[in-house]
Amino acid sequence: MTIFSKIVAGEIPAYKVAETIDYLAFLDINPLAEGHVLVIPKKEVDYLFDLDDELYTGLQIFAKIVATGLRKAISCKRIGVAVIGLEVPHAHIHLIPMNNVSDLNFARPKLSFTPEQLHATAEKIREALKQDE
Ligand code: 5GP
Repeated sequence: MTIFSKIVAGEIPAYKVAETIDYLAFLDINPLAEGHVLVIPKKEVDYLFDLDDELYTGLQIFAKIVATGLRKAISCKRIGVAVIGLEVPHAHIHLIPMNNVSDLNFARPKLSFTPEQLHATAEKIREALKQDE
């Protein structure tokens, strides 16, 4: 079971920002920027491009919805998108609020936020997404 499947199962906590039957979005625990979100299919598949077409396109549409709320919640120029997958073998898309190209540099030291800050960030994103419904 991947760490992300444990989040899906509620076995370990996460700052969730959006959820459907098939997909989940939550804050990355070691973010590159405030509001760095991971979107995942709940189904445990390692490699993004191994997802079947339906689950893959659904994930991209879910990512689009989350990115729209994210951009309203977090002051930034754009939402950057990245797929790495070298650490956690459970398909996921990184959504990263960015102002400069260096905001997407995964080799940079990660930021550190307090639980209170992460809670507030997740709440802001959830609120922005509610307005889109
Ligand atoms: P990748 O697999 O794309 O190289 O990196 C996995 C990402 O998942 C990293 O950005 C890392 O910070 C994040 N991550 C790893 N473990 C956890 C976790 O337990 N909870 C959360 N919220 N994020 C995690």
